[in-house]
Amino acid sequence: MPANTNNPNKKTWLKVAENSDFPIQNIPFGVFSTSDDIVTIGTRIGDYAIDLGALHRLGYFDGISFKEDVFSQDTLNKFISEGKTTWRAVRNRISEIFDKENHSLQDKEEDKKIILFSTDEIEMQLPAQIGDYTDFYSSKEHATNVGTMFRDPENALLPNWLHIPVGYHGRSSTIIPSGTPIKRPLGQTFPKGAEKPVFGPSRLVDFELEMAFITGNANVLGEPVPIDKAEDNIFGMVLFNDWSARDIQKWEYVPLGPFLAKNFASSISPWIVTMDALEPFRVASPAQDPVPFPYLQQSGKHSFDIHLEVAIQPENEEATSITKSNFKHMYWTMSQQLAHHTINGCLVNSGDMMGSGTISGPTPDSYGSMLELSWQGTKPVPLKNGQTRKFIEDNDTVILTGHCKKNGVHIGFGEVITKLLPALKIKD
Ligand code: MN
Repeated sequence: MPANTNNPNKKTWLKVAENSDFPIQNIPFGVFSTSDDIVTIGTRIGDYAIDLGALHRLGYFDGISFKEDVFSQDTLNKFISEGKTTWRAVRNRISEIFDKENHSLQDKEEDKKIILFSTDEIEMQLPAQIGDYTDFYSSKEHATNVGTMFRDPENALLPNWLHIPVGYHGRSSTIIPSGTPIKRPLGQTFPKGAEKPVFGPSRLVDFELEMAFITGNANVLGEPVPIDKAEDNIFGMVLFNDWSARDIQKWEYVPLGPFLAKNFASSISPWIVTMDALEPFRVASPAQDPVPFPYLQQSGKHSFDIHLEVAIQPENEEATSITKSNFKHMYWTMSQQLAHHTINGCLVNSGDMMGSGTISGPTPDSYGSMLELSWQGTKPVPLKNGQTRKFIEDNDTVILTGHCKKNGVHIGFGEVITKLLPALKIKD
C-alpha cells in the first residue's frame, strides 16, 4: 500500500489553498520549463512546482534505488520504466519531505531556493514522449447515443460492443499539453443534401470529454498482460480532450474507422496523477452482462470516482459549464482495456497513452461531447452570454476539469484548456 501518503490528516509545510487540486495527498508527476529555459521533471504541491532533478542532486532521494539519470531527462519515460516499486518509493519520499513535521528541507533556505518554483513562473510541457496512443470507446452511454443518432435506436450498440473493449490506434504526434491553441481542421465532408463531397474547414468541431492513462513497460512482445497485473502497469491518469471533426469523421470513417477527423489535436492535462493517489477513490464499475471472457474477468473494485466537468468560454467572455460527468460510468475498466490490448501479444511501452473514450453519464446533462449535448445540432446549448452552441466555434476555449473528493480530501487533475482558432485560409 502507498504508505501514509493518502492520510486525510496529513499536512504540508508549504502553503496550499483550500480546495487546491494539489494538496500533499496528490503528488502528481510532470515536466516543466523554468524562466531560464531549463526543462525538468517535477511534482506540484499547492502552487509550488518542485524540481525533482534538484531534489535528487541534493541527496533527498538517497536510499531509493533507480538509475542515476532518470530525473535529468526532459520526459518521464525513463522514470516510468523503473516500475511501480520506484514510483511508489519516490512519491512516498516526496510526501515525507514536505510533511509539516519533517524539517529536512523545510529549514534549508538555500536548498528551497533551488527546488521550489511558483507555478506562475514555469511552463508545463508534455509529461512523456508518447510513443503509441490508443483510444477506446468504453462508455456504454456514449456508444448508445452515437449508435442511436447514426444508425438504429433499436440496435444502438453494435454486436461486438458488450464483448470487446472497442478501440483504435491513434496518432501520438498531435497530442499536446493544455494551453496549446489549435486550428479548425480542413478536410473533406459530404454535407446532407449535397451530391458530391466538398473540401473546406470542418463545420462541426467537437470536444470529447475523456481521461487517459499512461503505461509503464507493461510486457514483452508476444506476451499478454494478465488482467490482475494490469493496474500495476498503469503509471497514472490525465484529463484528455480528444478533439473531433464530426463532419469529416462521418464521411471518412467507413470502413477503417477514425482517421483525419481525430488526429489534428488531442489535448491533455500536464500533471499525471498516480494510481496510488487515486487509491482512496476506488469504486465498482458497472455490472457487465454478458460476463466477458476469462481474460477480461476481474473481481473487486476497478474504477475511480472522478468528477468531470466541461466549460466553454467564448473570447473575452465568461465561461459556461455545459456538462458534468464521472469516470465511474465507464463500462470497461482500464485494466480490462490493457489486458485486451495485449492479449494478442501487442507490445505496450513506458509512456504509451490510452484514452478512455468519451465519458458520457446516464443523463443529458452529463454527456461528454457537443454531438450528444446538442443531439447532432438539434438542441443548441445555451451559454451565459445569451449565445448558444451546437458545436465549438472559432475562438472558443474549451476547459476540462476533474477532481476526486472523499473524507475531506480533494485531489484534482488541474485542467485542460484549449482555444480553437479559425482554419487556415484556403487559396482560391
Ligand atoms: Mn475519442
